[in-house]
Amino acid sequence: MAFSSLALKRFARVLILSILIRLGSDGNKWFSRNLLGLIRVGFEPVRKRQAPPSISQYKYGADAAFCISIDFDITKESRRIPNALGTRAIVELAEKYNIPMTWAICGQAAAEQPEEIGLIRNSNVRHEIGIHTYTHLDMSLPSTSPELVKSEIGRCFEELNIKHGVKTFIFPWNKIGHFETLSNLGFTTYRGADRKLRYPVMENGLWNISPLYYVDARSEGASKLMKMYVDLAIGYRSVCHIWFHPWSVVVDKDDKFARYTLDPLLEYVEREGKKGKVWICTLEELSTYCQVAKETTITTLEESGLAGKFAVRSSQPNIPETEVTIEFMILEGKAVESVELDGESTKFSVTEDNKRFKVQVPVGTHERIVEVKFR
Ligand SMILES: [Zn+2]
Repeated sequence: MAFSSLALKRFARVLILSILIRLGSDGNKWFSRNLLGLIRVGFEPVRKRQAPPSISQYKYGADAAFCISIDFDITKESRRIPNALGTRAIVELAEKYNIPMTWAICGQAAAEQPEEIGLIRNSNVRHEIGIHTYTHLDMSLPSTSPELVKSEIGRCFEELNIKHGVKTFIFPWNKIGHFETLSNLGFTTYRGADRKLRYPVMENGLWNISPLYYVDARSEGASKLMKMYVDLAIGYRSVCHIWFHPWSVVVDKDDKFARYTLDPLLEYVEREGKKGKVWICTLEELSTYCQVAKETTITTLEESGLAGKFAVRSSQPNIPETEVTIEFMILEGKAVESVELDGESTKFSVTEDNKRFKVQVPVGTHERIVEVKFR
């Protein structure tokens, strides 16, 4: 675009986003794709909702997922103090709005700032710990061998006193490579380099949760714009994945920027979360949900005017029991009287249009039976 100043660029972005939000997912896909192209965001339309009984695209039947990934690294001496200040501000904000985040930790930075790592890990918000290599390794270089990758990750685990179970890997500089090694080490999830409006996609053997927006000093005062990215994801039933560094949200060694810019965004996300519009999650939670949803089948065992019986089972043996949201149809002119999960009464919620109801079902190796009675 030919806009020279930051203000003009932001104005153009707000304009484009407001058109896109108004269009929504039912609008012309070609037009949406081109508009998103102007703000350098790729577009892969999310498939239409499946007919019930079906698994919701996002947990709790939300319209979109919202996640944040933070790259905890100190790649320049000047970033040392801002990294510590930013981490403190972010951990406080996450607690204020109860928003779990994915922290991709660089082992070396963790060794230098153990107090800040402690704040993240001892927070009353359940943050996810991801890996960002030990030395901020360029994974795309020909000189980076699988052995080096393994040893870097091993050093990270040692530094963080982690044995296994880490699922998210964030590539330094978003430069990708060594997917097979990562998969063998148990990683399931990463953040691709390209900004995209879409659903998570299995790419290179791992789930790619594409970013939508990066926050740094140029985002100062851009809370309105960032909230629009949340609305965009809701309108297109996509993922709003925002990322930054602790030091990228600290300007002039002052964390006011982090607080003033991120606070309204997180407040908005919390509100939309409570309304059921967005599912606030970590990258790992999102990819696990996608994986389980993909592997789960729902079979109708019985269905009459007054009752229904369904079997839910997963063909995925390697994932621990995971709660998914299943949507069922409400027959015309009927109302839900009761829902049972494996013979025990369970909670359900009816959609606004009264056409479906949603139930949380833990899916694992055991088959689950959902029984519903209508009146
Ligand atoms: Zn980094």
